[in-house]
Amino acid sequence: MRYVQIDTQSDPLSQTHPSTEKQKNLSRILVNELKGIGISDAHMNEWGYVYATIPSNSDKQVPVICFCSHVDTAPDASGANVKPILHQHYQGQDIVLPDDVTQVLRKVDFPYLEKLTGNDIITASGKTLLGADDKSGVAEIMDAANYLIQHPEVKHGTIKILFTTDEEVGKGVEKVDIQKLGADFGYTLDGGEAGSLEDETFSADGVQIIIHGVITHPGYGKGKLVNALKITSEVLERLPKNESSPETTDQKQGFIHPTRIEGIAEKCIIDLIIRDFVTAELKTKEDLLQSTVTSVLNNYPAAHFEFKVTEQYRNMKEVLDQHPQVIQNAKEAISRCGLTLKMESIRGGTDGSRLSFMGLPCPNLFTGMQAIHSMLEFISVQDMNKAVETIVHLATIWEEKAQEGATTSVP
Ligand SMILES: [Zn+2]
Repeated sequence: MRYVQIDTQSDPLSQTHPSTEKQKNLSRILVNELKGIGISDAHMNEWGYVYATIPSNSDKQVPVICFCSHVDTAPDASGANVKPILHQHYQGQDIVLPDDVTQVLRKVDFPYLEKLTGNDIITASGKTLLGADDKSGVAEIMDAANYLIQHPEVKHGTIKILFTTDEEVGKGVEKVDIQKLGADFGYTLDGGEAGSLEDETFSADGVQIIIHGVITHPGYGKGKLVNALKITSEVLERLPKNESSPETTDQKQGFIHPTRIEGIAEKCIIDLIIRDFVTAELKTKEDLLQSTVTSVLNNYPAAHFEFKVTEQYRNMKEVLDQHPQVIQNAKEAISRCGLTLKMESIRGGTDGSRLSFMGLPCPNLFTGMQAIHSMLEFISVQDMNKAVETIVHLATIWEEKAQEGATTSVP
C-alpha cells in the first residue's frame, strides 16, 4: 500500500529512458529497503533498474534464479495520488469506491471475487488505478527476500532480484544486462489469479504497408490519378473478418490487426500487428496479407506498394520447452502452497517472453492482481501472501533438486 502511493506511471510518448524520471522514486526506496534488510549489493542504475543479490546459503551448486517485476504503472489511468483502501474480511458485498461512487466492484462483473470471500481486498479510491500491476509483484519479491534473509535455515542458491522500468510502454527489458544479472533462469511476478502460471505468449510481428498512388491536379486527373487512400480502404475492407481478427478470435487463435493509418491521396501508410502462438503461422498470415494487397493493386497498375515485416517478440514456450525444470519447479512450488495450478497462455507478450530469448528462460507467475489498468483494479492480501510463499518454495525447490557438488550450467 506504501508503494502504490508513489506515482510511477510510464509514458509511451517519451523518448527518454526511463520514460519518466519519477519511476526512479520507487526504485530508490527499494534499494534502501533492500540494503536495510541486509542485501548489500542492491543498487539502481541510470535506467532506474534495481539489481540485488541474495547470496547462496547452500553447499550445493544451485542454478542462479532471478525474480523480476516492474515498478511502472500503465498509462491507461492516472497513477498520481493513489489512495489505497484495505477492505477487511470481504463478505461478497459490492465494493463502492468512495471518490467516484459510480466505480463499483461487483461479483457479477468479476467472478473471481467469489473465491475471495473472507479475504482482505485492496482497491484504489475511484479516481486512479491501484498499481497492483506490478507493485504487487514488487512487494511480493521484497517480502520473500526479507523472509529468506531472516531465515538462514531455509536453504537456497543465489537469488537475483531485478526491478525494471517502462514495462507498460514495451521497453521493460530493453536495457537489461543479462551478463551483469548473471542468472540462469527467471520468473516474472506479473500474472493474475492465485495459482496461475503462464509459459506461453504470442509470437508477434509488426507489418507496415506503404501504398504509393499517383497524384495529379484533381481537376485533370481523369485516367491518371490513383488515390492511395481509396486503395487503402479496399485493402482494409478485404482483411479477414470472421477469422484471424481480434474481434472474432480467442484462446489459441492468432490474428491480423490494423492499428493505424496515416496518409494523403498520394501515399498512405498502414501499420498492422500480426499475432499467433505458432511462429510459422505469422508468415502464413503475412503472406495472406501481402497477396490481399497485391490483388487489390492489380486493379491499379500505376500504383505500387512496399511491405515491411518487423519481428517484435516470440512465444517464450519455444525456449521454456528446452528447460522443462523451470516450469516443473514452478508447478511444484504452487502445489506446495496448496493452490490449484492454472496454466495459462498470454494473448500478448511479457517481459519474460523477451528475457527468454535474451538467454534468461522466464515464465510468468501470479501475483493476485485483478482488473488491471483500470479504476477497479484490486488484489487480495491472502493471494499476495501465497505469491510470497511460492517464491520461497521455488527458491528451496531449486536447492533441493540441485546435486551435491554438481556444476551449474548456464543455458
Ligand atoms: Zn505488469
